[in-house]
Formats: sequence, structure tokens, C-alpha cells
Amino acid sequence: PMNYRHSYHAGNFADVLKHAVLAQIITYLKRKDQAFRIIDTHAGIGLYDLSSKEAQKTGEWHGGVGRVMEAKPSDQLAAFLAPWLTAVREMNPDGGMRLYPGSPKLARLLFRKQDRLSAIELHPADAKQLRSVFEGDYQVRVTELDGWLSLGAHLPPKEKRGLVLIDPPFEQEGEFDRLVDGLARATRRFPGGTYMLWHPIKADSPLATFDKKLIALARPRTLTVRLLVRDNKISPSLNGTGLVIVNPPFTLESELKAVLPELVTILAEGPGAVSEVRVLVGES
Ligand code: SAM
Repeated sequence: PMNYRHSYHAGNFADVLKHAVLAQIITYLKRKDQAFRIIDTHAGIGLYDLSSKEAQKTGEWHGGVGRVMEAKPSDQLAAFLAPWLTAVREMNPDGGMRLYPGSPKLARLLFRKQDRLSAIELHPADAKQLRSVFEGDYQVRVTELDGWLSLGAHLPPKEKRGLVLIDPPFEQEGEFDRLVDGLARATRRFPGGTYMLWHPIKADSPLATFDKKLIALARPRTLTVRLLVRDNKISPSLNGTGLVIVNPPFTLESELKAVLPELVTILAEGPGAVSEVRVLVGES
């Protein structure tokens, strides 16, 4: 059963970290003229209306992109967030905060004419909506497919450079293991690619086991990034957000170490808010 709908969560603190880093990686890819491809295996609907009843029901975006928009960040954090926030503002030319770009739309907003997006979404209604967002756009291909399968079929991309984003809903058991297995298969087919895997942080998330398996997988240049908005022991809800990044841009680790403590203070929901940037596997 596919019950997860991202419309309830779009723009929350997890999207902030994920989308800010995604925009940084794409900005880095643009340093070379050569075309790249973004493969988004769990793409969602692409564009979220924050005035919808789903978004209003949880109000999650207020604690995410809403707070970031109201914050007065240091120059360093502002520079880090700029590629993402510029795209968000582009969707809201009248100044407010109503339309929030999900990962495929964000990627597309940052593209040059040579860059391409493969957006994969399994939920039929979501895939249909996603397709309508990119109607007539020759740079984007939307496929209604199980994203885990695309890690075989769609790799390596013909551009031979780019990013694979794996952002599953974690509504089934075993999703952490599926991430590790997916990364293993994908990097075998496309070792030069950059990978970004999302995972939730809840009190019962098997994070130590996950780290061990990633270390055992031993893909060179594997980085883990975690941001907790509150202590992870007290509440069973989503207390934090994590990204595993393989082959990150060379500057990303130091940039994240520099800016995340300040981002944590902006997104904090209580005591225990903290960030972590750690190399799981170094250079080969
Ligand atoms: N990546 C999106 C973003 O950042 O804007 C959000 C994606 S949301 C967390 C996860 C999406 O995966 C949902 O839209 C859900 O319908 C979809 N989904 C669930 N299982 C899937 C599967 N096996 N293959 C592809 N998509 C799937």
C-alpha cells in the first residue's frame, strides 16, 4: 500500500537540508560545460501548494522553509542556501511563500539547456501530476515505475555524469537495507556518479547498523550528514533527517561543517538539536 503523500510534509526541516544540498550539488556540476543528468528515483509531484489542505493540516513547512525565509543568516549560510532559495523565490515572484518546488522541479529550475532529468514516481496519481508539471519539457522524462528498478535500468546515464537522488517514503520495513542494497547495485553500474540518499531519524531508526553496512560496502568518498531538531530519545516522531552522499563535491564536507550548526539553531524544536558531518569511507 502506498499511503505516503509528500504534500503533508513539503518544505519541512528535512526538505530544507535535502533541497539545499541538492541545489549545492547541482551548482557544482554546472562548473563544467558538459551535460549532466539527475535521476530522481522517488520524485513526488514536483510542485507543492503550501496553501493546500494537506500542507495546512500539518503546518510542517512553517518549521522548515518558513523559518529559513524569516531568518537572518550569516553571509556564509546565506551563500550556502542561495542556489536553493533563489529557486524557491523564483516560484513565488509576488514575495509570499505558496509554491514549494520539490526535488525534480528544483533540479529543473537550476538546469542549463544541456542538462536532463529522469524523474521516477510509482504512485499513479503522483506520477500523473508530475507529468503535468513537465508537460512539453524535452529536458525532463517522467516515468511511472518502481524507483528501485530504475537503479538498474537507467544507469549509467548516457551523459556519464550526474546525481542519483534516492528519497523513499520509509513506510515499509527494511527501507534502510533497501537503501544500502540500492546503492551497492547503482554504484556498480555507475561508479562515477554522485549519490544522495535520504533517511529519517527517529528513536528506533537503526542508524548504527546502517553506518556499519555503508562502511562495509566501502564505496570511496561516502559522507553521512545528520541534523536533529530535538533529542532523539524522547519523542517517537521524526526528530531528525539524514543524508548519505557518495562522491560529493570536494568542497561540500567543509561547507556543511561550517554552516550546519547555524542551520540547526534556525530549525531547532527543542533541546538536543545538533548536526553531524562524518566521513564513513574515505578516498580509495
Ligand atoms: N523526492 C521528493 C522531493 O524531494 O520533493 C519527495 C519524495 S517523497 C519523500 C517519496 C515519494 O516516493 C512519494 O511521492 C511516493 O509516492 C513515492 N514512492 C513510493 N514508493 C515508490 C517506489 N517504489 N518507486 C518510486 N516512487 C515511490
